[in-house]
Amino acid sequence: MDYVGRIFRPPSEAHSLLLQVTVGCSHNKCVYCDMYLDKRFTPKPWETVLADILEAKDAGPVTRKLFLCDGDALILSTRRLMQILEAIAEHLPWIDRVATYGDTRSVGKKSIEELTELRQAGLGIVYHGVESGDDEVLELIQKGGTRAQCIETAQKLRAADIAHSVIILLGIGGTRLSEQHAKNTASVLTEMDPPYVGALTTTVVPGTPLVELRKTGTYEMPAKFRMLEELRTIVKDSELTNCRFSTNHASNYLPMRSVLPRDKDEVLQVLDRVLEARDPRMLKPEAMRGL
Ligand code: SF4
Repeated sequence: MDYVGRIFRPPSEAHSLLLQVTVGCSHNKCVYCDMYLDKRFTPKPWETVLADILEAKDAGPVTRKLFLCDGDALILSTRRLMQILEAIAEHLPWIDRVATYGDTRSVGKKSIEELTELRQAGLGIVYHGVESGDDEVLELIQKGGTRAQCIETAQKLRAADIAHSVIILLGIGGTRLSEQHAKNTASVLTEMDPPYVGALTTTVVPGTPLVELRKTGTYEMPAKFRMLEELRTIVKDSELTNCRFSTNHASNYLPMRSVLPRDKDEVLQVLDRVLEARDPRMLKPEAMRGL
């Protein structure tokens, strides 16, 4: 397979075939993100993508899931995405779900009809880094989208029957915006009502603009237990219909899996115990955290 640079995928795509159809991220401005800082965004040539699909065909049915890399493959034109999805269906008929990262920009550029066409061709799920439901935080981190656009994204994906997996980022508002970040993230989740939510914990990664914001005092990393308080607010205040809500990403201090609202009381009890004890030994050791 032709892989350019480091390859990223969501934790739940760990066993998926990774097909790189773009290099880098067309936005590449989020202040906390170093994933594609070393790459200039380019769609990969069709011949290269097709050669990878044919290589996977020769390898046979190793997995039933496929993830389109890199950062926001959904930004490709519908015509190119259809070409890719049709080739996957033709040569890898055992693949029953194709996934990709997407966001307010890439979903915003597509009509519900186009998204429906993509779903009918095999696109089953879009992983969307919402990060925060607070517009001040979204501006601070240069997310490139607003709260209203996040809600619109959720509505379009639902109308097209594409599963929507939302990523939120504990601590990304810093200490100053921590409370409004938590409250508005809870309310945006209520309005989006996605079937999947993954909470990650902010890490200040060397080389990212967030390092500079921290140096100048614009951003101050909240303490570990403060970020768990944010999580508590998000779980308590959000009203979700049926959502697999997980904090099992490597960056988190307290990994949990739950279904909300079914497990809400249980999750809140765990958080309350940890927040009351304030014992760091109840949290994942710093050395065991990852990005
Ligand atoms: S967080 Fe996502 S959208 Fe933002 S720069 Fe990184 S890959 Fe691009």
